[in-house]
Amino acid sequence: MATKILTKSKMGVDQVEPALTPPTAGPTLPKKPQLGASSSRKREIPDGLWIKCPACSAMIFDKELDANLKICSKCGHHFPIGSRERVHSLVETCSFEEMDAEMASVDVLGFKGVATYKSKLDAYRKSTTLKDAVVTGIAKIGTHRVALGVMDFGFLGGSMGSVVGEKLTRLIERGTEGHLPVIIISTSGGARMYEGMFSLMQMAKTSAALAYHAQARLPYISVLTHPTTAGVMASYASLGDLILAEPKAMIGFAGPRVIKDTTQAELPPGFQTAEFLLDHGLIDAIVPRKEMKDQLVKYLDYVTGGQKATA
Ligand SMILES: [Zn+2]
Repeated sequence: MATKILTKSKMGVDQVEPALTPPTAGPTLPKKPQLGASSSRKREIPDGLWIKCPACSAMIFDKELDANLKICSKCGHHFPIGSRERVHSLVETCSFEEMDAEMASVDVLGFKGVATYKSKLDAYRKSTTLKDAVVTGIAKIGTHRVALGVMDFGFLGGSMGSVVGEKLTRLIERGTEGHLPVIIISTSGGARMYEGMFSLMQMAKTSAALAYHAQARLPYISVLTHPTTAGVMASYASLGDLILAEPKAMIGFAGPRVIKDTTQAELPPGFQTAEFLLDHGLIDAIVPRKEMKDQLVKYLDYVTGGQKATA
């Protein structure tokens, strides 16, 4: 035992890794001791294996988190979930027919800031393997055929540019033509500043498409997830016949500081949470992620008058 420790210290290797991951059972293998020293040690720990829950500080194994629909098993905190995982959690197996999968944003304004819009798009396409911040398609939920749109906060903060607006508008129009209910799961920081006015126009376009859908007396269910704010909240996300939200989701238009400065009033605690908005009548129900599919089926049964989808 003594010899072992002596050998290690001679080689200049620290015995214990910092407590970023729970300690492994076996001894750590010496890795290039002379290079980099302490600053490089952090990088030797595989990234993303353990995630700390921001609500209860529990360390959760990432595979366990994935298997649990990105919900903390200790306290029920809802982590952000990707659009494809969300689609998978809601629809019947192999029933999702994606629409406009190849539609991609272009840098129409030649936007240059700290980083160019083009470089941002390239980076997010690479990191998320998505083309933009929404996935749309026709799917079956329970026995109901629905037009389903799911946003992804991981792509440029779920911001709404021309592609997000156009894909959702086409989805809603397809719903109207096919007499299908529309369900949109939102998460967004708002309109995409890199596209300026082109982003803001999407608010009117999606709202108008929903008006035609409503005229055809078809149901639209809007699901708000953490966070849903600004231009998205001010357009299609708040237009649902039924508005649902995930627990503790942050929902609002402007940030608390802007509201406080504008109104010069003290804001009540938690005023932009799903729970507060349920109490004040803006949303109809809070539905935990794990119950979302079953609840959507129940609501669809109800709003379609119990008629089974024929297609
Ligand atoms: Zn937790």
